Amino acid sequence: MAKGAIIYKTREEIEIMRESALLVSKTLGLMAAHIQPGVTTLQLDKLAEEFIRDNGGVPGFLGLYDFPNTLCISPNAQIVHGIPNDTPLENGDILSVDCGVLMNGFYGDHAYTFEVGEVDPAIKKLLEVTKESLYKGIEATRVGNRIGDISFAIQSHAEAHGYGVVKELVGHGLGRVMHESPEVANYGRRGKGKKIQNGLVIAIEPMINMGTAAIEQLADGWTILTRDRMPSAHFEHDVAVIDGKPEILSTFDYIYEALAAK
Ligand code: MG
Ligand code: MG
Repeated sequence: MAKGAIIYKTREEIEIMRESALLVSKTLGLMAAHIQPGVTTLQLDKLAEEFIRDNGGVPGFLGLYDFPNTLCISPNAQIVHGIPNDTPLENGDILSVDCGVLMNGFYGDHAYTFEVGEVDPAIKKLLEVTKESLYKGIEATRVGNRIGDISFAIQSHAEAHGYGVVKELVGHGLGRVMHESPEVANYGRRGKGKKIQNGLVIAIEPMINMGTAAIEQLADGWTILTRDRMPSAHFEHDVAVIDGKPEILSTFDYIYEALAAK
């Protein structure tokens, strides 16, 4: 995945990347409006592809490492890299939707775990804590810290709630390539790893399991799911370091607006 030296971005490049990130944000907002019991993940995938192309982007995952679709859609025990299919969503499901866009030569890549209908309170808590751990990681993304400080912030928050932190899959640098250096693990030690500098742009993406951290992969060669088949959540933002501080290029606001309008 993420290989080579970190490619720091100029302010101009970060502004172009913000547009890519926001097209992903708007696509996820569209998903929020359509996710409900009875809808299939393949229907969501088609909507997303059309929306991205209509808005001047290209689906970032489609064909990347030969992935077959626009969205990675991972319900319930699936963690990431689920392939859209024609199974209707059911009341009480959770659904992680990860979306990538390539526009003006730069990628956007972020994700949200949605609730389908009425979700069990214990699962709602998992979503809440996973999202909080993302923001703890973002808060640590500043000059003076190292990548390990981000990892530590995510891990310690999730584990304080007794959840399992997925270790095999990680966040990453983002730019003209979807997966650049550095790797941003969701577990780690304070003060370890590369120093955080201005111009760093990373996708931070905790993947947190309600049960144990252990994972499996399905025979489709893509889908990653929990070994104990308990639910897993995934939230991701694109974050740039500007003037020493983290700036979130993506936003969940389109999602919140769509959910409020439902
Ligand atoms: Mg992603
Ligand atoms: Mg990513």
